[in-house]
Amino acid sequence: MSKVTSTHEIVIVGGGIYGTSLAYELASRGRDVLLLEGGEIAGGASGGPGERGVRANNRDIRELPVVSLSIDRWQVFQEQFEGGVGYRRVGGLQVFDLPYGHREHEIRGRMEAKAAIQSALGTPSKILSRDEVFALEPEMSRSIVGAMYCPNDGVGDHTFATRQFAKAAEAAGATIRTMAKVSALLADRGRIRAVRLVDGEEIGVGDKLFVLSNVGAPKLLAEHVGQGALPPTWNLMPQMMYVTNPENHVIKHLVSHAHRRLAIKQLPDGTIMLSGGVSVSHKDGRVDTGSLSATAINLTDSIMTFPFLDRSEFVQVDATRVDTNALDDIPIIDRPQHLPNLYYGYAWSGHGFAISLGFTKLFADWAETGDKPADLEPFSPSRFTLSPRVSVQPSRLALTA
Ligand SMILES: Cc1cc2nc3c(=O)[nH]c(=O)nc-3n(C[C@H](O)[C@H](O)[C@H](O)COP(=O)(O)OP(=O)(O)OC[C@H]3O[C@@H](n4cnc5c(N)ncnc54)[C@H](O)[C@@H]3O)c2cc1C
Repeated sequence: MSKVTSTHEIVIVGGGIYGTSLAYELASRGRDVLLLEGGEIAGGASGGPGERGVRANNRDIRELPVVSLSIDRWQVFQEQFEGGVGYRRVGGLQVFDLPYGHREHEIRGRMEAKAAIQSALGTPSKILSRDEVFALEPEMSRSIVGAMYCPNDGVGDHTFATRQFAKAAEAAGATIRTMAKVSALLADRGRIRAVRLVDGEEIGVGDKLFVLSNVGAPKLLAEHVGQGALPPTWNLMPQMMYVTNPENHVIKHLVSHAHRRLAIKQLPDGTIMLSGGVSVSHKDGRVDTGSLSATAINLTDSIMTFPFLDRSEFVQVDATRVDTNALDDIPIIDRPQHLPNLYYGYAWSGHGFAISLGFTKLFADWAETGDKPADLEPFSPSRFTLSPRVSVQPSRLALTA
């Protein structure tokens, strides 16, 4: 006897920013959508304290068209949704100094090339002089020699945004079930027909299935896509630090550094969030809260950028949220040829929040038209395999061995 309790046209697995914003997008286009979340909405990488950077600056060139679409949409939803989506367009500054052994023309040349390419691909970017940087951020270290300025970059309250999209999806007619963990995808005659929950309940997939469960995605996909066809990925748990601002200085922008792993932002309550640095190791079932070495490196880099931070005190150190990573730091997005109603995306590589609304718009367009949007092409897992048209010459290989 079939255990299928209900069937929905579109089933989405995962209640992070990807699942909820896609559920909203498809439900508002009139589709019958069910979202299944194994825990609570925003219980994964899309939840937790503080804010996420919403930046287009310093991304892989292949992401630029999608991220500029996404950033436009952050602004649109901020204005459209009652209560907004927690997005603030504060502008981004990626500062640079001169690391030992480097010359200013090398650093500046690279930054100028990046600014030109980013601007051409939809992200206005400009190199600022030292004085222009200090005019924008007076507390900045005097060792800074310039910065890339991206006025459209900003920050977002990720937990709030994810919950707002879930709420809007329900208002648009989607059904959301939490504590509904999917244990298997059930395929039959070249299509995914149903998903099975951990308690054995089966839910029919009327038309399309989206697997957007981040850390939970590879396991669900492996049986159907084939372990060999899924590129290797790994999990990272970025560490976030929150410190006081005893002298009430203001950091207006989302600040990063060209040579240090750093992201600094001031939260609406005045707390300063230091992130972007070293991650904490993650193993299934284990949750770490902070690491002394990761803290030390990240703090030093922060103080080198804003010296007044040396007089701050800790509020919180948090390392409880996990993201998936791909070798080239861009996501893996596909629809397998042998299962054309299965769509998936993961491996956002630590910067998936900012770009999410671009990807979910493109996912929805793809589902609606059947044609893969050209901007999604670079994210196919086939990029990790040698094209059959490339013939590798053994003599060349020998030279590099
Ligand atoms: C600490 C940290 C800081 C970050 N900072 C930034 C930043 O500054 N800027 C930026 O752009 N990005 C940032 N990112 C990345 C960004 O937050 C993530 O890429 C993004 O939130 C991923 O969204 P998601 O919906 O794919 O995943 P998630 O939010 O992880 O959602 C996936 C959901 O799927 C559920 N799930 C898993 N398996 C199953 C299953 N079998 N059945 C049902 N449900 C399942 C999980 O419970 C989870 O809720 C950061 C990530 C972390 C962890």
